[in-house]
This record gives sequence, C-alpha cells and structure tokens, in this order.
Amino acid sequence: ASMREERIEKTKTVCTYCGVGCTFDVWTKDRKILKVVPQQHSPANGISTCIKGKFGWDYVNSEERITKPLIRRGDQFEEVEWDEAISYITKRITDIKDEHGPDALGFISSSKATNEESYLMQKLARQVIGTNNIDNCSRYCQAPATKGLFRTVGHGGDSGSINDIAEAEMVITIGSNTAESHPVLASRIKRSQKLFGQKLFVFDLRKHEMAERADRFFQPKSGTDLVWLSAVTKYIIDQGLENRPFIDQWVNDFEAYKESLEKFTLAYAEKITGISQETLIEIAKQVVSVDKVAICWAMGVTQHQLGSDTSTAISNLLLVTGNYMRSGTGAYPLRGHNNVQGCSDFGSMPDFFPGYEKVSDNNARKKYENAWNVELSSEPGKDNHQMIHAIHGGKLRGLYVIGEDTGIVDSNINYVTDAFKKLDFFIVQDLFLTKTCEYADVVLPAVPSLEKEGTFTNTERRIQRLYQALDPLGDSMPDWQILMGIAKELGYDWGYKHPSEIMDESAALAPLFAGVNYDLLTEYNSLQWPVAADGTDTPLLYTDGFPFEDKKAKLFPVGFDLDYGMNEEYDLHVNNGRLLEHFHEGNMTYKSKGISRKTPNAFIEVSSELAKKRGIEEGAKVKLTSVAGYATGIVHITDRVRGKELFIPLNDNGKSAINYLTDNTVDKETNTPAYKEIAVKMEVLKKK
Ligand code: SF4
Repeated sequence: ASMREERIEKTKTVCTYCGVGCTFDVWTKDRKILKVVPQQHSPANGISTCIKGKFGWDYVNSEERITKPLIRRGDQFEEVEWDEAISYITKRITDIKDEHGPDALGFISSSKATNEESYLMQKLARQVIGTNNIDNCSRYCQAPATKGLFRTVGHGGDSGSINDIAEAEMVITIGSNTAESHPVLASRIKRSQKLFGQKLFVFDLRKHEMAERADRFFQPKSGTDLVWLSAVTKYIIDQGLENRPFIDQWVNDFEAYKESLEKFTLAYAEKITGISQETLIEIAKQVVSVDKVAICWAMGVTQHQLGSDTSTAISNLLLVTGNYMRSGTGAYPLRGHNNVQGCSDFGSMPDFFPGYEKVSDNNARKKYENAWNVELSSEPGKDNHQMIHAIHGGKLRGLYVIGEDTGIVDSNINYVTDAFKKLDFFIVQDLFLTKTCEYADVVLPAVPSLEKEGTFTNTERRIQRLYQALDPLGDSMPDWQILMGIAKELGYDWGYKHPSEIMDESAALAPLFAGVNYDLLTEYNSLQWPVAADGTDTPLLYTDGFPFEDKKAKLFPVGFDLDYGMNEEYDLHVNNGRLLEHFHEGNMTYKSKGISRKTPNAFIEVSSELAKKRGIEEGAKVKLTSVAGYATGIVHITDRVRGKELFIPLNDNGKSAINYLTDNTVDKETNTPAYKEIAVKMEVLKKK
C-alpha cells in the first residue's frame, strides 16, 4: 500500500441514527470521513445502509460543535476549562441538595448516549445524589410499547431479530412509516414481500411508501387502532378461531379478557374507526389464515393518549392467535433512536434499575445498596413529564440533560421552556448549542459516537460495540468521562479506565445482562439480551414460555375512551412524523450539507379535498393554532393525507416546530405526550 493509503483507518462503528442498528466500517483519514462500508457480516443490515447512515456524518466536523465547557455570565456564555466547569457544577448541585433535598434535582439521559453512559447517568442520580428522578427520551416515544409488552408478555423488547421478520407469512405495520423511519428494516419487508409473497397489511393515517406497497392499506381514524384490534380479536374468539392449544398451554386470564371485549362489536368498531364491518371480518380471517404473523408498530401507536393500551391490544391479538414463541411471529415495537432501547435497558428510568428490576423491589435495591455502598430510595422518581410539572411547582430546582433538545422535542414547548426559565440551575450536555442550551447555566461539550467507545442496543435487543474512529474535537469529552469527573468531585471516585469496566459492573448486577462482556462483543460480534451468565444470548425472546412465575403470558383487558378536543373551532387534526433524510429535530442531519440541500423546507401537508374546500393553494403560508400555541408553515397539497388530517414533519426546529402545538395531554399509563392527537384551526396568512 502507498503511504497515502496507509493513513486511512477503518473502524467498526454502529449507526448513530435509527434503532435498526446498522453496523459498518467507517473509513477515515485524519478527521476526514471518507466513506462508510457495511460488511456482509453486519448482523442487522448485511451490506445495506440508508442515506443517513451512509452520508449523514458531516455534523461530526461541523464548525458549530461546542469544543469547550461554557458557563453563563449574564446574557453570554464564557468558555472555561473543565476544572472550573466541574467545580462550579458540583457546588451548585450541592447547594440545591443541601437546601431542598436530593429530589429537587432531576436527570435526563439520552438515547444518543451509550449503554455505559446511561448506566453512569442513573448511577450519578441514585448513588451520588440520592434520587430516582432519572429518565430518558423513550418517555417521548416508546415507553407505551414497553408498557403494553410488560403487561402481557413480560419483556419490553422485540420478540425476535430483524432477520426473523422474513419468516413471517404476514407482517402488519401500525402507525409506522417504516420506509422512512427504519429504512433498512423496511427493505427487508419489501424483499420478503417480493421474493416469498409475504403479505403486508399497513394501518396508518398517511399514505406513505409502505402503504403504497402494501397488499392492503387501511386508514383508521386517528387514535382508534385499539378499537379495530380489539374488534378483530373479539371476532376471532366469537368464531372459535383462536389458537386453543397455544392459549391452553401459554396464556392466562382468557375468560376475563374475553368478557372485556363485549363492547368491541363490529358495528361499534366500524363507527369508531371508519373501517367497515366486512373489512374487519376480512382482516380477522386473513390473520388466522396464516401460521406466522409479526406486528411492527411505532409512534403512530405510542404517541397517543391510549398508546400503552393500544400496544397491549396488539399483544393481546398476537397471544389469542398464538403468534409468539416462533421465529417470524411476535411483537416488534420499532425503536426510533439508535440507543433508545439501551438507554432504558441500562436504568435511566425513574422506576427501574438496569435490566428492569424495580426500585421498589427490596432484593434488587439491597443488591445496588451493597454494590454502591449507599442507601437508596424505594420510591420511584419523577419521569420527564413530571419533572417539568415539578419545576413549575417549585419542587424541582436543578436539571441535568444529556444529548436531548428537550426545549424542542418535548410536547408543549412554551410550557417546557417556561419551566427552564424557573430553574435555579440547568446543565445541558450536547454537541451543539441547541435551543435547550439557551436556558442553560452550564453547557458541556460532549462527543459524537465516532469519537468514543461503548455499546448501543438496537431495536432487536442487540448489543453492539462501537470503536473510536476519531479523537474528541477540541476539549470535548465522552459523556462517561464527564459523568465520572462530576461524580469524583462529589466524592465518588468511580475510577473506570474503559467503558468495558462499566459494562462489567452492570453485568454483575443486572441478571438481564449477566454474561455480557466486551470480549464477546469484539468487532461485529453482538449479543441479544437476555444474556445468561455463560454468555448465551437470546435472539428469539420467548422459547420456553414467558418471564412470569408460571411461564404463562397474560391477556390484559383494555377499554376505549378518547377525546382529543376536536370541535367546531379546532376542527382539524395534525399528525406528525419523520422524513427519510432527516432525523429527529434535525440537530445532526441539518448539519449535513448534502442532506439539508435535498429537503430544505418545512411544510404542512394538506389534503386536496380540504385545500379545495377552503380555496388554499400550494405554497400558501398558513398559521395553525391549538390550545397550547401556534406554528406557521408552507402548504403542500397532497393525497397522502385525507380530509381534515394535516401532517407536519417532526424534523423541523424552527417556527413550524410541531411542539408549539402539542399540549400537556399524555398517555395515561406512561406520561408519554400524545403528540399525534392535536386539534387545530388553520388560517391563511399569505396566499402564495
Ligand atoms: Fe442508520 Fe437506521 Fe439508516 Fe441503518 S436504517 S443506516 S441504522 S438510519
């Protein structure tokens, strides 16, 4: 090789965007990212990637990166050295703790952080500060899916691997724009449909690419999936088409559940969902006509007032039809961010230690008390949503947020940013000066995935290592090192020399990860949890029953009662979602030039029917107003949405940001904001 080639480094990494968890070699020369090369043996993706994974890396070298700690002095931020930042932080935290107690502090961890960093963030909150006020951004998206699965089948994760989906005879997607949000996973489904005649049924409000490709596409009214799911399940039971042997062997509470379905007649479901009775019967017949059904769902299900109950209804249908415990069957909640699964798995939750052991469980708590040499609280802490309320109520005084633009991504951002203004002390740790940083007292420069080591867990519970390809830019530091610095100054010298030691500690404490260690995770090797002490992992989650005492799953009754405030004045419904090219609020993808150029503008999709009725033209500027606030945007007329449905891409971080419109309405089980259920009125500001 020539000298030039010799300087090229090839480093295995994990994609930093979505929960599919594609892995690849990234080729770098000094700080230049030359290309991304997926490998045949990349477990989740093989040789595939999407536009974000392949080209979305410019942000790493963006000139807007923060490279030094910043402390607010009046209206300005001043660059300081790490020592000064850390002693300032620890002093302010200690003052708040001394005056108001540990529960006056809150911690929000990030799905961009590694598993090891999530572990340390909850360790900082619990061991060092003494509070369970620790949560992460899965509260904004996937907590309801986890809840629905906990209630019925016991584990909050995908039932099998992405590759197993190929074995399904039928795939049903609900509230998931799979082709744009989980591109590589969608390509697997497309391939199976084409090659093996796998049936694809898509349920969504919006006619997106997967809807166009589907064998059948259904558009139930917003927020009503629970009703068609329950009606279809009831019909199956009424006709005696349930999977009797499976239920007898593996499922509890059938009779009580059956009774709870009384209300969900076909006539009722037709009225509520808009799907005709004949169609509902046909769906039921199709579902039982095949041997293997897998159901994928995402935020179109979870970000609703009934997000947890709808996720439960999905699992109920799978149980009644015997669609668990075999490859090609089961529940696939599609995790949004690269490490949204792992961040919850490793304990950044107000009610769980790592591996989902409850803080109220005396044995689990004792174990951590012994390991960490402190007393821990058995009371669950506040979740993200409760933290914001507590700030308004004067109970929460200090907040530490890692890698999350909470001031844009939380619902009802006017309310959230008003809360930030009331904080005594606010630390934000990120790559860029985000909107949230505008309210911070201290901003700490973190590093992107390419500049650190650790592990991420993708949607199929697969723990994968990322290796460091670049040095941290300027004085920026990996989250785990920053957290160690703060803990040390507060009297807890953790002394980890490498993230592998953090993983060893979590594995020793959390049975779910008992056999996980870095030696088993070298290069493209990976482990799907639960991992037994001998290192055996679990690609197929349920093989020998379910993780309950008698190994039987539970059918869990759910009801339907929904009102999201549509009336004569607020007469339109806004939905929102991802675009293929961008990610989240766009903090990373907007900084990739090629991507920004391709889809530059924020727009509001309006149906041709509505546009015609109101005389609105393509390109008009409109203002949407909800009970919480208003947003403006440019009209794009399309048949992707129907009637009074509007759609806004959620990747905007400017004036049309969806969260000026969302309010404090939440899923009642998990406090996940009902982002998808906003009633608005629309006025035209400028014709074109
Ligand atoms: Fe990254 Fe997801 Fe695209 Fe894979 S599908 S390259 S994980 S964004």
